[in-house]
Amino acid sequence: MPGRKASPRIIIHVDMDSFYASVEVRHYPDLAGKPVIIGPDPAVSGGRGVVLTCSYEARKFGVRSAMPVTRAHALCPHAIFLPPRHDLYQETSERVMDILERYADRFQQVSIDEAFLDVSSCGDYAAATELAKRIREDIYRAERLTCSIGIAPGKSIAKIASDLEKPGGLVVITPGKIREFLSPLPVGKIPGIGPKTAAALVNLDIRTIGDLAEADIQDLRELFGKSAVTVRDIARGIDDDEVRESRRIQSISREQTFSPDCGDPEEVTRILLELSDELCRELESEDAYARTITVKVRYPDFTTLTRAQTLPRPTREVRHIRRAVIGLGLPLLHDQKVRLAGVRLSSLVTRDTHQKKIGDFSG
Ligand SMILES: [Mg+2]
Repeated sequence: MPGRKASPRIIIHVDMDSFYASVEVRHYPDLAGKPVIIGPDPAVSGGRGVVLTCSYEARKFGVRSAMPVTRAHALCPHAIFLPPRHDLYQETSERVMDILERYADRFQQVSIDEAFLDVSSCGDYAAATELAKRIREDIYRAERLTCSIGIAPGKSIAKIASDLEKPGGLVVITPGKIREFLSPLPVGKIPGIGPKTAAALVNLDIRTIGDLAEADIQDLRELFGKSAVTVRDIARGIDDDEVRESRRIQSISREQTFSPDCGDPEEVTRILLELSDELCRELESEDAYARTITVKVRYPDFTTLTRAQTLPRPTREVRHIRRAVIGLGLPLLHDQKVRLAGVRLSSLVTRDTHQKKIGDFSG
């Protein structure tokens, strides 16, 4: 390729394996090896709702993200349905991202369980592969969770690579191997080409990424509009999109310890509201909105209870957040002294990092 610099660009894509389901299995070890579906149990929900994600054991039965839970149940009647615990996934994600960030020259988190790392300073692909193995071990040692990793000269190729040998995969595509690697794969492996687009491409006799690389640009314009050139470039292994330094702030929290312990529910409520207001101001200054609100109360014996609520849409309105905090906090306060009270806002959305829909988080 003309213009290539002497030291190659090396991009790592890390994707946690069936993230939500794996976090649940870690908390309920009895579920290991069983088909676990994160989503409302159709027996309880009356059949409404969709699968957020599922374990690989459930995937073997054809269960997929975004599928109605009734259909998932029909495919896999012995599956265990669990309601999502977004706060738990969020906290776990933050710790995983902390680990990943340490290894990157530049770091871009793209969803709750996925990130790109520019590791060009490794110098070569052998060193980057060793680094990837260390990342995988570090995450496993710290969190008992597995991930899949792709290494390539570009982001889209690294992402395709990380998806190929899930779970626990490590796929390395060196610059000289890109075309050979991409050509035989079905077009649907390119991020952003869903089943509908893939079907439309079949009508143009385009089935593999190799076919797409050779396609007529006018044909592609009809399907992809302005992105036609980019899509064909990716199929040709050309992808110079930079790893854009971004670490989504994922949660903010405030807590206060009472000394001595506080036996007055009104006083604790007043503090909780004060903390909420401070957090709202912080959202304002970060230009962020929160979806999940958690109240934490610790009693003198160190028992700690948390109650969380996820709102239909992100907000930073003081009155919305106050209302949620009161609703969550009051049931925790009667008849008991309190040692510590806290508020946490999570599932944050900032305007420049548009949040993917929940269904996209799977895999
Ligand atoms: Mg994933």
